[in-house]
Amino acid sequence: MRIGDALARIDPSAELFLVGGVVRDLVLGAPASHDLDLATSARPRQTERALKAVGGKVFNLGEKFGTIGAVFDSEGTRTVVEITTYRAEAYEPGSRKPAVAFGRSLADDLARRDFTINAIAQDPRSGELIDPFDGQLDLQRGVVRAVGSAPERFQEDPLRLLRGVRFASRLGFQIESVTARAIIESASALATISRERVRDELERTLLGPAPARGIALLCELGLAEFSLPDVPRLRGTEQEPGYGRHKDVFSHTLQVLDRTPPRLALRWAALLHDIAKPATKRVERGKVTFHGHDRKGERMARHILADLHQPSELIDRVGRLVGLHLRANAYEGLWTDSAVRRFVLEVGDDLIEDLLALSRADVTTGRVERRAAIARSVAELEARIRELRTQEDFARIASPLDGLDLMQLFERGPGPWIQPIKDQLKEMVIEGELAAGDKEAAAPIARALYAELGLDDRQPRSGATPL
Ligand code: ATP
Ligand code: MG
Repeated sequence: MRIGDALARIDPSAELFLVGGVVRDLVLGAPASHDLDLATSARPRQTERALKAVGGKVFNLGEKFGTIGAVFDSEGTRTVVEITTYRAEAYEPGSRKPAVAFGRSLADDLARRDFTINAIAQDPRSGELIDPFDGQLDLQRGVVRAVGSAPERFQEDPLRLLRGVRFASRLGFQIESVTARAIIESASALATISRERVRDELERTLLGPAPARGIALLCELGLAEFSLPDVPRLRGTEQEPGYGRHKDVFSHTLQVLDRTPPRLALRWAALLHDIAKPATKRVERGKVTFHGHDRKGERMARHILADLHQPSELIDRVGRLVGLHLRANAYEGLWTDSAVRRFVLEVGDDLIEDLLALSRADVTTGRVERRAAIARSVAELEARIRELRTQEDFARIASPLDGLDLMQLFERGPGPWIQPIKDQLKEMVIEGELAAGDKEAAAPIARALYAELGLDDRQPRSGATPL
C-alpha cells in the first residue's frame, strides 16, 4: 500500500490500519467499496503529507477531529480515503460534539467505535485482522452489537441509535438483545442531537436496500417517536377492505416504500403519502373514507420535513408528490390528449416520473385483478405521456404571445388586461386548437379576445365626465 510506504518515510514508527466499512464488507465478501477509512498513530499533519506525497487531492475534514481525507482518481474510478488519527474521545453526554483527544493505540481507537462489526481493523500489508470485540463472529451470526457497554455508548453519541438501525436494515441483521434494550431505554436522547444529523442518518436508511425494515425497527425501538413521530401513528389505522384484511396504513406504507426506486424525494413521499390518513379517517355507513388525506398529507409532510431542516427544494418536491399522489390513479383511458397535457402541466414536467413511480408502488391491494387493472392504467398513462412528448415539448406549452408581444400588438403599457388574454391563448394550446409558438395565428385571436372581453377600458365611458 503506497500510502503506508509514504507514511513510513515520514514517521517510521507510524501504524496504519484499514477500519470500519471496508473491513466489514471485506469479511462479508461484499464488493469492494471505493470509500476507505483508515486509522493511524500518526498526527494529522503527517497524514496529510503522506497523502499528498502519493498524489491524493487532500481535503480537510476537520483537522481538530483528526481526520484528513483525500481523493484519488485513476482510470475513471474515484477512491475516497479518510485517515483518522487514533481516537480516544472524551464524550460529554448531551454535548453537541465530542471533544476529541488523540489516543495512543489501535485498541483504544477500536474501543471507541460504535458496533463490533465496525470495530475490526486490518493491517493493509499483511492482511491480518485485528478483532478484539469478536466482530467477525457477529458478522457470521448476523448481529448488530454495541462495543462495550451499550447504554454508555448510546449516551455518548445518540446518533449511534440510528446507525444501529441503519446497519441492521441494510445488512438484514438482528439487533442483539442487550443492545436493543439499551436503544429502547436511550431513545429519548435522540432529541438532544441536531436535526441535521438525524436527517442525514434517516436518509441513509431510506435510500438503503431495505428501507421498510429500517422504518419498522425505528418504530419498534421507540426511535421514531423522537425522529418521525407521525409515522408510528399509522399503526392500527385500518384501510378500506380492498386493501386486504388486517392491513393497516402502516404496513401498506412500508410496502409502498420498499416498492419505490431509491430516489430521495420519492422515498420520502412513499413514507409520507398516507400520513394524514389517521387524521382524516371517517366511517360512513360502514364504508371507510379518508377524504382530503392528500391535501392534509401535503401540509403534514412539509411540516415534518421542515422540522428535520430539509432544504426547501426537497420539501417542495415531496410536498407536491404527497398532494398529487392520487391523481395518476384517477386516470381513465377516456382522457383526451388535452386532459393528459393538463395533467402533465399541473404535476410539472420535473415531477411526473416520480409521481408515476409512486402511483405504481402505491398499488398494494390483495385483489389481484384490481391490482393488475390499476397497474395497466398507470402504464397506459405513462405511454400516452411518452407519445405526446415525441410530438411536443411540454415545457413550451404557453401562450404564443407573451406580455411584451401583447403590449406591442395593442400599443399599450403593462397592466391587468394582459393576463386574461395569455390565459385564453394557453388554454387553446392545451386544447390543441393553437400550436405552441404560433404567433401569427395567435394575433387575430388575441384581437378578438380583447374586444370580446372588454379589455379596452382606457376610453372614458359615455356620460362620464373626465373632470
Ligand atoms: P458505510 O459503508 O455506510 O460508510 P461505515 O461503517 O464505513 O459504513 P462510516 O459512517 O463511514 O460507516 O464510519 C466509519 C467507521 O467509523 C464506522 O465503521 C465506525 O467504526 C466509526 N464510526 C462512525 N461513526 C461513529 C459514531 N457515531 N460512533 C462511533 N463510531 C463511529
Ligand atoms: Mg464508510
